[in-house]
Amino acid sequence: MDYLPIFRDVTGRTVIVAGGGTVAARRAEIALRAGARVRLFADALDDDFQTIRDHDNLEHIPHCPRQEDFAGAALAYAACRDKADDERIAALARAAKVPVNVADRPELCDFIMPSIVDRAPLVVAVSSSGASPILARMIRARLETMLPSAYGKLAKFAGVFRDKVMKRLKSPENRRRFWERTLDGPLATLVFSGDENAAEALMNRELEAAEAEEKTGITGEVYLVGAGPGDPDLITFKALRLMQRADVVLYDRLVGDGILNLVRREAERIYVGKKPQEHTLDQESISGLLARLAREGKRVLRLKGGDPFIFGRGGEEIERLAQERIPFQVVPGITAAAGCSAYAGIPLTHRDHAQSCLFVTAHGRNGLVDLDWKQILRPRQTVAVYMGLRILPELANAFLERGADPDMPVAVVEKGTRPGQRVITGTIADIAGKVRDAGFSGPAMIIIGTVITLRGKLAWYLPEKEGAASPGGRFTGAI
Ligand code: SAH
Repeated sequence: MDYLPIFRDVTGRTVIVAGGGTVAARRAEIALRAGARVRLFADALDDDFQTIRDHDNLEHIPHCPRQEDFAGAALAYAACRDKADDERIAALARAAKVPVNVADRPELCDFIMPSIVDRAPLVVAVSSSGASPILARMIRARLETMLPSAYGKLAKFAGVFRDKVMKRLKSPENRRRFWERTLDGPLATLVFSGDENAAEALMNRELEAAEAEEKTGITGEVYLVGAGPGDPDLITFKALRLMQRADVVLYDRLVGDGILNLVRREAERIYVGKKPQEHTLDQESISGLLARLAREGKRVLRLKGGDPFIFGRGGEEIERLAQERIPFQVVPGITAAAGCSAYAGIPLTHRDHAQSCLFVTAHGRNGLVDLDWKQILRPRQTVAVYMGLRILPELANAFLERGADPDMPVAVVEKGTRPGQRVITGTIADIAGKVRDAGFSGPAMIIIGTVITLRGKLAWYLPEKEGAASPGGRFTGAI
């Protein structure tokens, strides 16, 4: 981080603004909005000052500021027409130990101005640390649309109850839970719609319930959440919301860093990942850990790659929770086959090629599992094979031995939807050699079927020669 983000109280304090143009007007206006007394030094003021010219807290002084003007000021802004004036003002401010901001001169600034979304008392400030003010403004514009103006009302409403909640709920943990529940639920809707009486009644009821819960001791809950195949943009809103609430997160190898960064910063992180041959924690211990943490009153997030119920053993993990009557929620995720399909430009079904798609796992306790070959070799279908990379040679041989067409197209998508995504296409006869030569390390999805031939048409811009490993990830599935 290049700058320390803080919110400064300037109520009743002096803020110096030097300059009579647009930027100075904006600086003066925002300082006034924050309750400061603005001393504005400028020979003449242009039209931008129209709305604030007569403000009670604005004093216009028609000359440049002198050293004594800075005594006791909280902040200073220089936005003069003349660069040399700005430099002089910055030097005076610094001599008086008053933090100064000089328009468009980051090297002279003690602090910089963020783009803000004002829903007072709620304020969001966005900064790119000077790297790209336009990007910061774009993000601000997005936030503007995401935060209804009534959020200000909600923040005010919460402010009124803050002391009361503080007195009645003893543990900070319970207070946090209480606020998360109320600010995100029906109470917020009531405040947004302007029904403050109903909101107040509901708030009191919720507070009573939370108090009772605190006295009897609370149970936590478990969120079994599918994090998708890797691209953080592919997680659901619900997943994100629960990730932001968790007290502790249990994650494994398939969950990428980009996704873990979205989990609440304060949440404890426990790695329970398994590599094909290693077992960090067995399934039994994971279920036990989930149950124990929930009984301690924690909100436990179990993050799984893809979808928790597709080769994710999610069912096994929650069986014990169900037995012990521990509350849980399951959030679906985009499964690897769907993610790889979209990002590699290979539709899993297509009217001319495949009317069905089979998701299978090839990996059993001792290598290749005993698959239902009659079902697998059915025509006009796509087969998506999970956990098949290491046993790809055996898998391809088994296909050939059972009479599959050696020219049957196959694609292997490695690190699907992630920055290093690679795709190799070939046939059932040559795919294992190609994948070995490319040194794929996984995770990888094997897709078998004539839908693979569509890739050349759909992912038309990929610089790939048929069969060569190609960079991917640009295909967003907008067919
Ligand atoms: N529950 C997960 C699957 C877990 S099994 C889901 O729904 O996606 C693990 C297998 O999923 C891996 O061996 C690999 O075959 C596949 N997989 C997971 N993430 C992948 C990715 N980003 N790219 C390619 N394959 C992936």
